[in-house]
Parts: sequence; structure tokens; C-alpha cells
Amino acid sequence: MTPDISAPRTAAVIGAGLGGLALAIRLQSAGIQTTVFEKRDKPGGRAYVYEQDGFTFDAGPTVITDPDCLMRLWQLSGRRIEEHVDLIPISPFYRLCWEDGTVFDYADDQDAIDRQIAALSPRDVAGYRRFLAYSQDVYREGYEKLGTVPFLSFSSMIKAAPQLARLQSWRSVYGKVSDYIEDERLRQAFSFHSLLVGGNPFATSAIYTLIHALERKGGVWFARGGTGALVAGMVQLFEELGGTIHLSSPVEQIEKEGRRVTAIHARDARHPVDMVASNADVVHTYGELLGDRPRADALGAKRHSMSLFVIYFGLKGERPDLAHHMVLFGPRYRELIADIFNAPELADDFSLYLHAPSVTDPSLAPPGHSAYYVLSPVPHLGTADIDWETAGPAYRDRILDYLDDRYIPGLKRDLVTCRHFTPFDFRDELNAHVGSAFSIEPILTQSAWFRPHNRDDRIENLYIVGAGTHPGAGIPGVVGSAEATAGLMIGDAA
Ligand SMILES: Cc1cc2nc3c(=O)[nH]c(=O)nc-3n(C[C@H](O)[C@H](O)[C@H](O)COP(=O)(O)OP(=O)(O)OC[C@H]3O[C@@H](n4cnc5c(N)ncnc54)[C@H](O)[C@@H]3O)c2cc1C
Repeated sequence: MTPDISAPRTAAVIGAGLGGLALAIRLQSAGIQTTVFEKRDKPGGRAYVYEQDGFTFDAGPTVITDPDCLMRLWQLSGRRIEEHVDLIPISPFYRLCWEDGTVFDYADDQDAIDRQIAALSPRDVAGYRRFLAYSQDVYREGYEKLGTVPFLSFSSMIKAAPQLARLQSWRSVYGKVSDYIEDERLRQAFSFHSLLVGGNPFATSAIYTLIHALERKGGVWFARGGTGALVAGMVQLFEELGGTIHLSSPVEQIEKEGRRVTAIHARDARHPVDMVASNADVVHTYGELLGDRPRADALGAKRHSMSLFVIYFGLKGERPDLAHHMVLFGPRYRELIADIFNAPELADDFSLYLHAPSVTDPSLAPPGHSAYYVLSPVPHLGTADIDWETAGPAYRDRILDYLDDRYIPGLKRDLVTCRHFTPFDFRDELNAHVGSAFSIEPILTQSAWFRPHNRDDRIENLYIVGAGTHPGAGIPGVVGSAEATAGLMIGDAA
């Protein structure tokens, strides 16, 4: 049967990650009847929540930047985010620690930043100001102007080229930071951010320095109750708008006829639909769901971001001396990152991100206890063929020993609950190609037009949303991708 293409009014979104949910809210707000199909038993994707022994552990994103991009989702239907989500500002944004005992509290406080930079390297005070001005320039060009524009044609890339050239976007994040800042610890402090979206600071475009300006402008926020509360708020808004979510409902096939998608096959049934957007991994989408092996192989051959090893743990007692977000630099920086992105085995050392949300929100742990997660960037499965079933527990113990020794004395004594998530889980739970934590690596030749497009080139009513399309990973990235994709879908439906 030929579908009625004159008035496409129904949409299916495959995957309830933050990008999928943001898109579903935008479509439903525009009057397109939208159904989300999610494989797992809870929404959120990488922002899943584990509840264990009275503790609440956010599985993934914890640093919320650009809260305006979230607020706009509510404003579309004349609502306010405060109806569902309580966002709390976090200060310092991050506490950065090195093994030589150097501590840098990075917050939106120019005097405090200047004072701390001066204590490490007086000459870098002025250099930092120049770096900040550069990153603000990149932010205006790369984020405000291009972050939610779909790059469907090469000519759109050509149009952006003069600005990208002016900003020296071919340089790496670390290279550009080093133009302005001399002290190695400060170079690390202002270049690690691209790792938060899966970018190697030594390889990814200097465009990603915009994250620095983004944080300084919009702050760093936490949702009371955890990022899971943000997910729950988005789901509630979507359902109140009339949308439907099917959980534990993996999509097994996207059915098409010629150049159009006609239905999706979830585990329970075939669902005819006018438009489909996939929030699932792009290699999985083209390979498993569309059966387009050549396309999946081509996407699979692109460089993918590293994976992560994450340990969630709960402790007896509280640790008010910790900061909410801590970056614990190990003995090596450049060399460790090279190992993470390229080496066929696990390095002996690590650098860690420690999340200590109980500092802000005691409700995440039972009274008298505190909740944490610690993550270590590790090679993805295409880079290092590690058997995480056996390597995982040993790696967990090494990391917990290190924390106990250096940052959380008594950790092992006070440990009451623990679980971990490995590259195998990214692959098996989230269908992530090679267990990548952030999808296709954000290098210049895999960004904007060079990334899988927000609308498929060949299938007219198939769209992509989330980390695998433009602009890329991270909460502002995937919420921005939802804006770009929704613009196309709403336009096509009109
Ligand atoms: C540990 C960790 C920490 C992070 N920290 C931060 C942070 O602090 N700040 C920040 O901004 N970003 C952070 N990120 C990045 C950010 O979380 C992700 O880029 C973003 O959440 C990805 O969203 P997405 O829309 O691409 O969907 P995903 O979260 O990738 O969700 C995709 C969904 O699709 C579902 N799915 C897959 N296949 C199917 C199928 N066949 N049928 C149905 N459903 C399917 C999956 O189950 C999943 O729910 C972090 C990521 C990780 C992993």
C-alpha cells in the first residue's frame, strides 16, 4: 500500500537517549504524533539510572552545560522547565588535581581563576585572557551560528569555511591552548574538555575550545535528584504533550519501500509510520535496522571515540571535602591520551573523572552515606581487544586502590555497594559500535557535513538524531542535533 505522503503526521523515534527525547518533545510540540521505542527498561540511554542498595547512580552525563538549550524544550509549548526539573548551579565547575599535589578550582570567578593561574605561572594570566577571548569567538561562530544548522550539502560547509579558516579550526585543541598558555598543568586544565565529548585534545579541531566559553557563559548545572531527574522531566513533558514511549521495546527493523520508510518493526508488532528518526548508534541503524551493510561498513570504518570504564560506588559516611566534579590527572597526559585512542592494550596508568554528587544532593544516598562514580577513558574494542569480563574486576580494584590511597582515604573500608560498566556494556546494552562511548570521533574531517546527516541522503523520510550526527556528543550537542533534525522533519511534514 502506498502511504499518504501528502500529510505525514506520525513519527517514530528509535531510542530514548537525551537526543531522542529532545526530538520527540519538539515533534510532539509541533503537533506530530510521536512514539518513542526504547530497547532498555528505562529511558535516558547513556543517561540511564542505577538504583542499588538505596543509592541512586547516574550512569553517564553529570555535567549539564547550556541549560538554555533544555529550557527551550519546555518553552516550545509555553511551559517552564521548573515545572519538572530543579537545576542547581555547581561551583567550582571542576576541581582539577595533579599527582604533585597541585589543585585548581575552576569556577566562573575571574579573580579566583587569575589568582590560581598566577600561583602556577604568572605569565599565563594574560595568556588565559586571550585564550578565553578566542574560545568566545569560536563559541559564537561554531555553536551559536552553526550548532543547530543541519549540514545537508557540501555548499553549507563551503559557506562556513571562511570562519573555520579564520579560527584555525585545523589546529588541535591542545595546540591552540598552547599558543596562549605555557604551563603544562594549565594546558591540560584548558584542553581536557574535548574528552567530555569523545574528542582527543591532540587531534580534535580547535573548534572544541568553545566548550570553555560555553561553561563560562552558561555555567555548570546539576539536576536535583541527578541527571535521571532531567530524563524523567523530559519524559513527563513529552507524555503530557500526548506522546507515547514504549520501553523494553527494541526496534528490529526499519521497513522501507523504494526511497521511503513505511514502518518499524518493534519486538511486539509492526508499526506503520510516516517518518522515522533513529537515535540509536548509526552503524547499528544502517547495519542491523536497515540491512544496508555497505553503508554500515563505511560508517564503522570511520574513527570512533574512545570507550569508558565506569565504577559506581556507595560509601558509609560523607566526604564534604570533595568537590562535586573532580578531574584527577595521572602521571602522563599526551602519552596516556595517545594510548587511549591508539594503543592495542590498556595503559598501566590512568586519569580519572570523579563524580561526587552527594556533595550537592544528599538525597542520592541513604542517610549517613554518599554516592560516587569514577570513570577512566579506555580504548574502544576496535583499538584494544580486551576481554573485559576478566580485565574489568582487576581494573576496578586498581582504580579503587588508587582513590583510597590518594583522594578518598578509607574508601575500601567504607564501601557498601559497587558496580561497573565496561566497553562490552556499551556494545551490548547500548548497541554502540566497538563499544564507543561517544560515537563517531569529532575530528574536523568527521564533523558538520562530514558527519552522518540529520536527514538521510537517500531515504526521504529517515532522520538521525543524537551523538552520531551533527553537531555531535554531549548534552548540548545531542539536544542541538534534535533542534536541527526537528527543523527538517517539521518542514517536511508541513
Ligand atoms: C559515562 C558518560 C559520562 C558522560 N558525561 C557527560 C557529561 O557530564 N556532560 C555531557 O554533556 N555529556 C556527557 N556524556 C555524553 C552524553 O551522555 C552523550 O553524548 C549523550 O547522552 C548521548 O545521547 P544520544 O541522544 O546520542 O543517545 P544515547 O544516550 O546514545 O541513547 C541511544 C538510545 O538508543 C537505544 N537503542 C539502541 N538501539 C536500539 C534499538 N534497536 N531499538 C530501540 N532503542 C535502541 C539505546 O538503548 C539508548 O537508550 C557522557 C557519556 C558517558 C557515556
